[in-house]
Amino acid sequence: MAIVWPCPTSVDTYAALGRGVDVAMPDCPRCALPMGSWSGYWRTVREGVRDLRIFVPRARCSACRTTHALLPAFCFLRRLHDAATIAAVVEEVVGGPDGVRPAARRHGVVHETARGWVRRFRSRAGEIAAGFAALSVELGGEVVTPLADAGRYGLAAIRASFEVATTLPGWAVLGWSRFVAVVSGGALLSANTTSPYLVIGRRRFMPPVPDRDDENGGEHGP
Ligand SMILES: [Zn+2]
Repeated sequence: MAIVWPCPTSVDTYAALGRGVDVAMPDCPRCALPMGSWSGYWRTVREGVRDLRIFVPRARCSACRTTHALLPAFCFLRRLHDAATIAAVVEEVVGGPDGVRPAARRHGVVHETARGWVRRFRSRAGEIAAGFAALSVELGGEVVTPLADAGRYGLAAIRASFEVATTLPGWAVLGWSRFVAVVSGGALLSANTTSPYLVIGRRRFMPPVPDRDDENGGEHGP
């Protein structure tokens, strides 16, 4: 399993730290017990047109012996590109007047790759909208009015929940793409979801959980 943590640093800064990345060990999602550090693995993140190697630490629960990859919030599960690039392309295509091709070109992304992100977002837009609209309300924000276009409704729900999350400590600095990565457990663009948990501030929220599909950005894990 992977846990996406709210990493605030730039991809460059994170990459430069190599194995020296310092991640607070979360509690085991299953047992709620503290976990210990358990090695990690290297993977590639593509930011714009640059590939960076990053180290992803693992945590292990000594009670249930499960290990978890601690993925920084600028990554989605099994996506090579960084979250900001993916989010920008999806927002520009789903929320704007442009087609996929110009958005892909602007961000230096291969057309087919960008099209895959947009298709997946649209195919999951109903769930995404429902989840983030519920989060917005859970956090004390506004009720998001459904829109005829499911994709735009999904984006509106994400914006609304991010807006209210920014009133809680630590979230504004992340920007909405990393917020989405954390809340969805990195699985915004994954095919199937079930629900574990997430803590925002002191509140618990049920986000989607990872599955196994799509582009593989890592050699040994998500
Ligand atoms: Zn455990």
